[in-house]
Amino acid sequence: MDKYEILQKYFGYDTFRQAQETLIDSILEGKDTLGIMPTGAGKSLCYQIPALLMEGITLVISPLISLMKDQVGSLNQAGIHAAFLNSSLTPGQYRKALSYAMQGRYPIIYVAPERLVTPEFLDFALHTPIAMVAVDEAHCVSQWGQDFRPSYLKIVEFIDRLPKRPILSAFTATATKEVRDDIIAILQLRDPTVMTTGFDRSNLYFGVVSVKDRYGAVKTYLQAHREESGIVYCLTRKHVEEVCERLIRDGFSVTRYHAGLSDEERRKNQDDFIYDTVPVIVATNAFGMGIDKSNVRFVLHYGMPKNPESYYQEAGRAGRDGAPAQCILYYSGQDVATNQLFIEHNQDNQQLDEVTRAIVMERDRQRLKKMTFYCFTNECLRDYILQYFGEYGSNYCGNCSNCLTQFEEVDVTRAASSLLACIQTSKQRFGVNVILDTLRGARTAKIREYGMDHNPHYGELEDVPVYRLRQVLQYLQLQEYLLVTEDMYAVVKLTEKAAGVLERGERIVMKLAKEVQRVPKSQSDDKKRRKSHGLPEDAHFTQREESLFERLRRLRTQLAREAQIPPYMVFSDKTLAHMCVVKPVTKGQMLTVSGVGDFKFEKYGEEFLQCIAAFTRGAAKPGGREGV
Ligand code: ADP
Ligand code: MG
Ligand code: ZN
Repeated sequence: MDKYEILQKYFGYDTFRQAQETLIDSILEGKDTLGIMPTGAGKSLCYQIPALLMEGITLVISPLISLMKDQVGSLNQAGIHAAFLNSSLTPGQYRKALSYAMQGRYPIIYVAPERLVTPEFLDFALHTPIAMVAVDEAHCVSQWGQDFRPSYLKIVEFIDRLPKRPILSAFTATATKEVRDDIIAILQLRDPTVMTTGFDRSNLYFGVVSVKDRYGAVKTYLQAHREESGIVYCLTRKHVEEVCERLIRDGFSVTRYHAGLSDEERRKNQDDFIYDTVPVIVATNAFGMGIDKSNVRFVLHYGMPKNPESYYQEAGRAGRDGAPAQCILYYSGQDVATNQLFIEHNQDNQQLDEVTRAIVMERDRQRLKKMTFYCFTNECLRDYILQYFGEYGSNYCGNCSNCLTQFEEVDVTRAASSLLACIQTSKQRFGVNVILDTLRGARTAKIREYGMDHNPHYGELEDVPVYRLRQVLQYLQLQEYLLVTEDMYAVVKLTEKAAGVLERGERIVMKLAKEVQRVPKSQSDDKKRRKSHGLPEDAHFTQREESLFERLRRLRTQLAREAQIPPYMVFSDKTLAHMCVVKPVTKGQMLTVSGVGDFKFEKYGEEFLQCIAAFTRGAAKPGGREGV
């Protein structure tokens, strides 16, 4: 068999994606290989397919038990023998798996890094030919990454012990140069083929919504997207509790996840989500690493994460199957302060020496600033993110809230000049809150103590809501009329540019999103977008296809339940959608559907064919009605 046949037979796909083929060929030529591709790009195939073509075993190193389980589950579903070796196995199961492995039963074995140098595993590895070691989530070797795992450093130690050096391949979605260089250096890749693909995830819609009533906005979104699976990320456990509780009270089926819950509850809630028992999970950022659920249709952020890396990673959990999905950030002014607190009190940094800690903190503050600007930029959001990662996209994507929404041009000169004048007359000595309190005419002890109640601008903007003042202030910062010092006092200072407004009557016009929900553009548009389920733009679903889709989905849920696997492991949303369009009658036709391979056909093909046939018959009967 060659790589194309494997792709078709086991995975049910016709063509490789951009980088996959290059990476696979490189490995098959015997070269060390590093693949840097965004989430959902299909990194797993890049080592799984060579693993099936090479003599000897491929060891896949993966950081999390849940990831290994997911991958091994998917491989077994596709008819490929694979196993994992980690601490979730009892000693008996572990020994049994190792002995099967020794007999050559598995071409692919997933191993936790800390297992590698244990005597038992070494004994196995020294007596079995190992063709390749594939390091998944390879950024875990780098201390610059967000998920440094000391146990990843054992990989090199392990390889050094082997009688013959296997091919090394590594994969990650982290794009920064530091991390890439670290991976090559630490894993000691030899003259590797390095392939980086663009970081754009074109199927994802990006939106920022700045509303006072965040909960209301989230609720409205969920109402319009019932039945779809999604994640609502919150900044704090407290928010998770609140949002989850309110949603339940409002009649939604949701569950929760954060580090404060018992292991048992976390596991249960996560499973409920993965198995589509509960469509929506409200969670802190503790949730998600290791979740390969492919049919997540939206990721909402109830609050702004601390940096663009985190945001893109969390948002990127939507739409792994390539079908359209939405990522919406609901921003509020307090988010900045909350994140600042996180940065100041970051436990992970406590062990660092003072100098390093200062550097790290400074870097974190810069990233937070970049994240904040994301919420305020009037430019294409996708472009903003891609530029952050060092890529240049086109500056219009047509699939983000900035590109799609009509902005309202608001003249904010009065507020802006009061702000600047207040900063100036108070001799640029105070932070944001004192300035805002002054302008709002607050009667607090602090304001009296600083004598700000005698400032000529005291109470001047009483009529402007404070969130709007913050927006204007942030805009002035973004446009460099003022800056906030980065020492612990965070004092607001003017730049030279401020004189334009203060002395020469320059006007400040902001593009502000209208105070309505910025997303979706219109209900009908949104419906069309959603209901295409990942098909090409012009292939929108008819109502009939939509109801077939629902039927197939129900069948999928039922089969998944019987097999005790998550529904997306039976077939992805995209595969079901494709079935609705093709409406296959024969096995041959069914095999042309993307995501249906021989083995999956054996398992589920007939049932889906029957379901489609029954549907078609029902629809063909004169006057026959759908039993929906
Ligand atoms: P990554 O590890 O890069 O985040 P995965 O390996 O989990 O991505 O793959 C994401 C999804 O893309 C999976 O559902 C996978 O089956 C699908 N996929 C991978 N390669 C192809 C391909 N050539 N054609 C169609 N779908 C693919
Ligand atoms: Mg992966
Ligand atoms: Zn855009």
